[in-house]
Amino acid sequence: MSLLRTDGLTKQFGGLVAVDDVSFEVDSGETRAVIGPNGAGKSTLINCITGALDPTAGSVEFAGADITDLSPHETVQSGISKSFQTASIFPSMTVEENVQIAALAAEHGSFRFDFLKRLSGFDAVHDTTDRMLSAVELLGDADLEAGSLPYGDKRRLEIAIALASEPDLLLMDEPTAGMSPDETAATVDLVEDLQEDLGLTILIVEHDMEVIFRISDRILVLNRGQVIADGTPEQVQDSEDVQEAYLGGVEL
Ligand code: ADP
Ligand code: MG
Repeated sequence: MSLLRTDGLTKQFGGLVAVDDVSFEVDSGETRAVIGPNGAGKSTLINCITGALDPTAGSVEFAGADITDLSPHETVQSGISKSFQTASIFPSMTVEENVQIAALAAEHGSFRFDFLKRLSGFDAVHDTTDRMLSAVELLGDADLEAGSLPYGDKRRLEIAIALASEPDLLLMDEPTAGMSPDETAATVDLVEDLQEDLGLTILIVEHDMEVIFRISDRILVLNRGQVIADGTPEQVQDSEDVQEAYLGGVEL
């Protein structure tokens, strides 16, 4: 069953068509990847789904509802969350507080810092925080200052922050960027576990082909904003258009 669907999604920046008439679906429970050379429009596509960017044309449907014109915050409340990079972490707060703030924001629409002082009253927030810290294996580090975590753990904390709203669909834009091979392997394992443990549907942009072919059920390939292939890893690998797009040394 399709959970997310875009229809003719298009985003122009002046004369540049960054996302050009993209129609694709994400089924419930699958790990769906978006790949393509640098500048292909992958991040722009994700940002049109989250509401961070307003599409120029086309629509986005999630769980049967039209979410094209929702704000980023409304999109989160509808059940879609995006894992941001380290900018979303408050470094001088603890690991636990970082996830609590995100859980509170998801419940209340916004947060005020004085909520933190009254957190003991929010059982649901505590439960969610513990479950998500445990899912990313940071429960043992709950009381550490977030800024003191090693890089790989910070990235896991970002994932826990994204999960604090208890989304049905998790969007990830290059989650292994800047990671060592060990951290990359651990993150890939984590993504696979999350999907199984939390019943998540995942839409992931990733440049590491080995990662993509290992974890994806289906892969959407973009080039210059357009869909040039869409199918299983095997189908995509065999596509002449894909091989051509990746030749010429742009990226592999
Ligand atoms: P990818 O994530 O696949 O590398 P992007 O979606 O970031 O590609 O970018 C697609 C194209 O849109 C690129 O040519 C990029 O320079 C351009 N672009 C992205 N964001 C903006 C913006 N805010 N304003 C103008 N051009 C942009
Ligand atoms: Mg990008």
